[in-house]
Amino acid sequence: MTWKKNYQMPESIIEVKDLQKSYGNFAAVRGLSFTIYQGEIFGLLGPNGAGKSTTLEIIETLREKSSGFVQVCGYSIDKDAEAIKREIGMQLQSSGYYPGLNLTQLLGLFAGLYNTTIDPLKILSLVNLEDKASAKVKELSGGQRQRFSIATTLVNRPKVIFLDEPTTGLDPQARRSLWELIRTIRAAGTTVVLTTHYMDEAEYLCDRIAIMDQGKLIALDTPDALIDQLLQKGFERKKDVKAATLEDVFIALTGHKLEPVQ
Ligand code: ADP
Repeated sequence: MTWKKNYQMPESIIEVKDLQKSYGNFAAVRGLSFTIYQGEIFGLLGPNGAGKSTTLEIIETLREKSSGFVQVCGYSIDKDAEAIKREIGMQLQSSGYYPGLNLTQLLGLFAGLYNTTIDPLKILSLVNLEDKASAKVKELSGGQRQRFSIATTLVNRPKVIFLDEPTTGLDPQARRSLWELIRTIRAAGTTVVLTTHYMDEAEYLCDRIAIMDQGKLIALDTPDALIDQLLQKGFERKKDVKAATLEDVFIALTGHKLEPVQ
């Protein structure tokens, strides 16, 4: 991560201040404040029901907040929701993938929605799917589908993309392939905000992690700092830690080749 190493003052791309959201009497988000910086991979973690989706959907201008301040790419969600939509990349629901269209046609369609033109093959090659340009979504493997879903977030050349559990349900090799793709996208200058339930994924990918519980932020730091803070409290692992994991065994047995994932 460049800004961490250089210690240059990073520029914020998302500002959230005292965000609150209630569904009827139920307070799902209770006074959330955090900043996401340009060029980072930011992880939003927490148990089911913590309020992650609610928070992200408010930031993506898909859901109304109850109160608080949210600014994305310098635009207020209250005044400039349309400008924000132009600047961000969101994964579409799979129902948005018209079954009769192939990947090239779908990307062309999404570009049309943004009133822009793209080279579908260029985007497909970025996610290593150029050989599937004429395939339909239903013909893709789980990993390929996720990569295509990420490709769809890139059609409007966004400054920040939002990925919701991008590797859930994938095999270990496909997950690693996705991790490298996410790093490549960030290396090209795009900020990445993601949710995940996989702690190894968060540790490997995220520059900083926000942990939510019951609508509140309970921690926000780099993975390293969060682990150090726990150790400083005297935490010790109960079990002896082996130098390899079962996942390492799986990868060693099934091969290291990560691309292309079938
Ligand atoms: P997470 O993404 O962390 O699992 P959510 O933001 O989906 O959490 O949900 C936070 C809480 O708000 C949960 O208790 C959930 O049941 C509730 N909730 C989410 N959406 C709605 C809704 N549309 N109406 C009522 N309650 C909701």
